Amino acid sequence: MNIRDKQFAVIGLGRFGLSVCQELTDEGAQVLAVDVDEEKVKAAMNFSTQAIVANCTIEETVYELKLKDYDMVMIAIGEDINASILATLVAKESGAKSVWVKANDKYQVKILQKLGADHVIMPERDMGIRVARKMLDRRVLEFTELGSGLAMTEVVAGSSMMGMSIGQIELCQEEGVQVLGFKRGPNMTKAPSMETVLEIGDMLIVAGPQPVLTKQLKTLS
Ligand code: ATP
Repeated sequence: MNIRDKQFAVIGLGRFGLSVCQELTDEGAQVLAVDVDEEKVKAAMNFSTQAIVANCTIEETVYELKLKDYDMVMIAIGEDINASILATLVAKESGAKSVWVKANDKYQVKILQKLGADHVIMPERDMGIRVARKMLDRRVLEFTELGSGLAMTEVVAGSSMMGMSIGQIELCQEEGVQVLGFKRGPNMTKAPSMETVLEIGDMLIVAGPQPVLTKQLKTLS
């Protein structure tokens, strides 16, 4: 299914909910933004397909939102745990297929899971893990065999690669190895210039003869 055909609902438009809305909208998805606070809804109008004022702890109101027609519902009500719990319960009861909920601590995670939330996130913890992973030196993410003796891998640049150009990385100098892509933040560049200077967290997508990659990856990991 094309991303443009995907329908998302985001309930709770604090900093977190609003950035979820914005990113989904930027990616071309259909996004319904909901908050009990009219000002928050106004602020979300530019970052969503439709923005509605509604109190999502009220059963009838949630049923009117027809959440069952959405591919995913994100409940991003942080502070008010009672509202978050109730909104999750009602969203599930109204037939929403996939309900993601933001939690503040591990106790909320447990409760929300028991209530049937399909996915519970703790943004601070999850981001902490992601940042720590990025801080780890030269972390290798994936290694995929392509057949005919070739393989593909993703390599995240650690501090030892910082300031080096792609062409200076030993792996990229090996015969038959090609750098297919380069990713910095959300931006992917195909066949990047070998002069590109690396920063920590940059990702290289590299293909080449499997024995060569295996040998090089051992020195990287
Ligand atoms: P942030 O995301 O900014 O870090 P937070 O997660 O603590 O903060 P809150 O400010 O607690 O978020 O709440 C997020 C939003 O949820 C607020 O804009 C609030 O108005 C909205 N909200 C709270 N209760 C309800 C409800 N019953 N129905 C709909 N929206 C609600």
